[in-house]
Amino acid sequence: MTHSAILTAAGLHQTDLTGGDLTVRSPIDGAVLAQVHQTTAADMPATIARAQAAFAAWRNIPAPRRGELVRLWGEELRAAKAELGALVTLEVGKITSEGLGEVQEMIDICDFAVGLSRQLYGLTIASERPGHRMAETWHPLGPVGIISAFNFPVAVYSWNAALALVCGNPVIWKPSEKSTLTAMATQKTMERALARFGDDAPDGLCQLVIGGADLGAALAASRDVPVLSATGSTRMGGIVGPQVMARWGRPILELGGNNAMIVAPSADLDMAVRAIVFGAVGTAGQRCTSLRRLIVHRSIHDDLVARLERAYATLPIGDPRSPGTLIGPLIDSAARDRMLAQLDKARAEGGRVFGGAAVTEGVPDDGAYVSPALVLMPEQTDTVRTETFAPILYVMHYDDLEQAIAMQNDVPQGLSSCIFTLDLREAETFLSAAGSDCGIANVNIGPSGAEIGGAFGGEKETGGGRESGSDAWKGYMRRQTSTVNYSRHLPLAQGVRFDL
Ligand code: NAD
Repeated sequence: MTHSAILTAAGLHQTDLTGGDLTVRSPIDGAVLAQVHQTTAADMPATIARAQAAFAAWRNIPAPRRGELVRLWGEELRAAKAELGALVTLEVGKITSEGLGEVQEMIDICDFAVGLSRQLYGLTIASERPGHRMAETWHPLGPVGIISAFNFPVAVYSWNAALALVCGNPVIWKPSEKSTLTAMATQKTMERALARFGDDAPDGLCQLVIGGADLGAALAASRDVPVLSATGSTRMGGIVGPQVMARWGRPILELGGNNAMIVAPSADLDMAVRAIVFGAVGTAGQRCTSLRRLIVHRSIHDDLVARLERAYATLPIGDPRSPGTLIGPLIDSAARDRMLAQLDKARAEGGRVFGGAAVTEGVPDDGAYVSPALVLMPEQTDTVRTETFAPILYVMHYDDLEQAIAMQNDVPQGLSSCIFTLDLREAETFLSAAGSDCGIANVNIGPSGAEIGGAFGGEKETGGGRESGSDAWKGYMRRQTSTVNYSRHLPLAQGVRFDL
């Protein structure tokens, strides 16, 4: 399929693709895909006001009825899966199955949210006063701003939007400036769902704004956006988080990771090798959960490294649309330059690098293709502690599990982690309070590829936010504790007496 056929199939029209000043290129071959119109910072107050007006109506629609909108959206996404997946591949360079997988993740969270729309449960709490009933109720909070990153151009939006909508909140989406077309096509699926849903959905319920950091800053600054979910670099979160908190808003921060795997002597090495390679080079190392550090027991270190070198030597790199390709391009040449510069730093710190070069043969012209790098490090240096958004895997060794866990935790980020072991004591120690300090900790599974059913997010510089499954929905609602007195007396709590 040609580039323009993919854009048309995803529902984008000439008016969407021409006449604007934001140039959109495909990372596959550098081709210009569109000149997109941008929202301006001056447009933001009216956008936020529309969302506030929508909130006044939407919060009164019963939650199961709100869930019906999300059910319809899931239907539209199912119908558009192939086309939207192809657009994800074209715009951010994911291989075909990962592009489709990203849309599947949207469908999955819609299903979850539809069920949730009948389960926004509060508690009933025993009151210490006779003739009193105490309860907790969850209410919507208001417009939710969603700032998303290029590497999950649509799934992260859906984690937020599907939950926010059933919780009774309008959404304003500011996608990455590197993935605007996928956002526009996704917005069209939502518009089709809204049209089918009918008049219960107010204008301004689901808005999309296209542009750069200034639009995100407008969402962060506005008191009329009580929740701001921001996914991206720790640099961005370090700016946006304090801005939201300074005006008493609620940030949900999903920031960078520096994810490790511990490989213990008892590990099933065949399984570990597969998990390592997918974790480290899948999505060309551009997942927040990508495997970046391998902490291997000294007794198996050389064997595992030899197996990995063999696997790395034959990895199919190239056009992500071609069957068999496992590694597509990096998002742009700046990402490639950062990767190569980081490898130079690692060499200067005593690292031995395998792979890690620009690839120009057998790949489309004008894409930033690289061979993934394995870097044998003498210790965990500052370079290793830094997230580089590219396929670099630092390999280090350990002698006892306590030391391995200390190394795993000794980075500023706290997103995902895992251990490969068949030893129950080691596995449970890794998952215990004295084990991994990350939001995600797996056993005999790599650090990436989470399901939507669990709460997703991490600690420390990863930001502390939780999205997607479990009770992450509570982040989009306010909790109200109510005590009702149905007696003929007015007893005070704690036995306090105040007789008039
Ligand atoms: P980025 O920080 O450059 O941009 C992310 C988004 O933030 C974009 O929409 C951008 O326009 C916006 N933005 C940037 N500066 C801003 C500012 N000052 N105010 C308001 N908005 C601003 O990140 P990226 O390169 O698109 O994505 C890669 C990063 O995202 C990696 O660090 C990765 O680990 C992280 N990430 C984290 C998760 C997670 O769930 N923890 C998921 C995906 C990506």
